[in-house]
Amino acid sequence: MPHKPKLGQNFLRDQTAIRRIVAALGDISHQTVVEIGPGQGAITGLLASQAARVIALELDRELAPRLRAFLGSEKVTVFEQDVLQFDFSAASAQANQKLAIVGNLPYYITSPILLKLAQSASGLDRAVLMVQREVADRIVAQPGSRDYGLLSVTVQMYGPVERLFTLPPGAFSPPPDVHSTVFRWRFAPRFHELGLEENPFLQLARQVFAQKRKTLANNLRAAKYPGDAVAAALTSTAIPPQSRAEELSLESLAHLFLALKNDPAS
Ligand code: SAM
Repeated sequence: MPHKPKLGQNFLRDQTAIRRIVAALGDISHQTVVEIGPGQGAITGLLASQAARVIALELDRELAPRLRAFLGSEKVTVFEQDVLQFDFSAASAQANQKLAIVGNLPYYITSPILLKLAQSASGLDRAVLMVQREVADRIVAQPGSRDYGLLSVTVQMYGPVERLFTLPPGAFSPPPDVHSTVFRWRFAPRFHELGLEENPFLQLARQVFAQKRKTLANNLRAAKYPGDAVAAALTSTAIPPQSRAEELSLESLAHLFLALKNDPAS
């Protein structure tokens, strides 16, 4: 069957990688696992042999029925649907547990999928995901590094991430143009602990990272924060005025958010 490049179809052929991905989920013997984009079932087959239950979300209407026939397991439910429309909270409530997520993601919608998972974090325990290597670099980046930015902050606010391993294009059929990296994400949102409101904080993050070449202060002024309020917030948080957002840890960004929020001028 021809693959559909528009759906990001690069099927994993490396059996060692498949075993490492499933092993990275830890003990799944009592776990409902949701697989994003099962494709031809490379990962799904092994999942089915180890997990308590597997929910596989496949958009391709030709692949979904083939997968059902190929797996033929009562443990696996294949939904022919867009992952971005899936109700993870309802699935978690139905399973009566937080879900584990796995997926060799369709790269054309990596960011929307990560945001969808972040928004569903209360129903999720952990995820093991394959993404383009450069995207993984940004996800796990730490403050001060070239790759640290809005994606790092957004993902890491929902829990710690670890890079696991990288695969060359030849591990897939057809081979993609890029290397791919698997990372693990343990869902443990930090908003409450840091005293933050989720959406207003994420909005501030988008504002401070809006223009990479501008200083933090200039990005804030461009987002219409009064100059006095910006200066006062930088002073009270001891953030140097010439700093760029790329230098700030999650904790420093949180302090900045609280200082701006508490300033009556802003
Ligand atoms: N898991 C398989 C593997 O590792 O061989 C396939 C991975 S392939 C990179 C991505 C899969 O996601 C494809 O099967 C594709 O049809 C599916 N897909 C693409 N867009 C999707 C969407 N919006 N929702 C669910 N699945 C999608």
